[in-house]
Amino acid sequence: MKAAFVTGLKETQVREIPMPEIKKDEVLLRVKTVGICGSDLHVFLGTHAFRKPPVILGHEVAGEVFKIGENVKKFKVGDRVTLNPSVMCYSCKQCRNGLINLCEHRRVPGTASWIGTFAEYFPAPESVVYPIESGISYPVATLTEPLAVAMHVLRQIKSTGRKSLAIIGCGTIGILTLFLARQQGYGDVLCCDPASYNREMAMKLGAKSAINPIEDDPVQAAYALTGGQGVDVCIIAAGAPGIVTQASAMTRMGGEIILVSMITEPIPVNTYSLVFREQTLRGAMLYTPEDFEKALEIINSGIPMDMFVTHQFPLENVQEAMEVLSEKKDNVIKIILHADKV
Ligand SMILES: [Zn+2]
Ligand SMILES: [Zn+2]
Repeated sequence: MKAAFVTGLKETQVREIPMPEIKKDEVLLRVKTVGICGSDLHVFLGTHAFRKPPVILGHEVAGEVFKIGENVKKFKVGDRVTLNPSVMCYSCKQCRNGLINLCEHRRVPGTASWIGTFAEYFPAPESVVYPIESGISYPVATLTEPLAVAMHVLRQIKSTGRKSLAIIGCGTIGILTLFLARQQGYGDVLCCDPASYNREMAMKLGAKSAINPIEDDPVQAAYALTGGQGVDVCIIAAGAPGIVTQASAMTRMGGEIILVSMITEPIPVNTYSLVFREQTLRGAMLYTPEDFEKALEIINSGIPMDMFVTHQFPLENVQEAMEVLSEKKDNVIKIILHADKV
């Protein structure tokens, strides 16, 4: 079968590899669609914290059950499915403490023990496979994983009373967080993104205002939205050197700042602002199975989500697709690759 590798810096290659074997409790997916994630881009650009080439990219996937192991109960050949690409151990200290998303033995695709999803066939334990409704397209079903990330971001907010929110960075995660936040009742949402297309999308999805942080001051915009108080919650889904300090200035006294972007370089933070304004700064890492299931419920409800899929390519064109995403070309939000058209 064919699989798409990152083979070096900004270099990909579709290679022939053996068909995966499955264990008794596993299903083999005939992959239909895969999504390109920011973390795949990190591998392509050589900035991923631990994943180094050659590696098969991908963890977002939807497809058809092609084969089942002898102990598989929930699925049969031909079922339409997606999967939670994090297999947790449920026995390490983090799992036992309820921090399942932080499992110490988390198994993820694109590592030595599990191939990536950018392949024609993909094996997975039955326990992480979920059915998708018949009316839901494979590209939309592939959005379940990034939507689960957005779900977890919003579940990290501890204060109640869903009022004002700022989202810095409206790429896939930022825009999906906006989408969910509006559904959850956040009325006043400010979005900051330098790309005009992302701002237009944010306004269409119900943001109260969407500004270009290079031209307009996000702090002023946050104050304008909230009568000079600052927003209740600020979500950071972008990376820039002064971004945490800026988020603090945009947020009200006692407010919360949730950091979801993986900024691997150290950046300066004005801690005085956090203390003086008694704000909470919290990370949001991946998602729990519950977040994933909640995200899938939304996908399976049939609420329109096609607008997030801005580009589609055959898996064979992975190089072109990675370049479009890395150069932020053609108003890109989410790129879906079709693995049944290699
Ligand atoms: Zn992802
Ligand atoms: Zn664990």
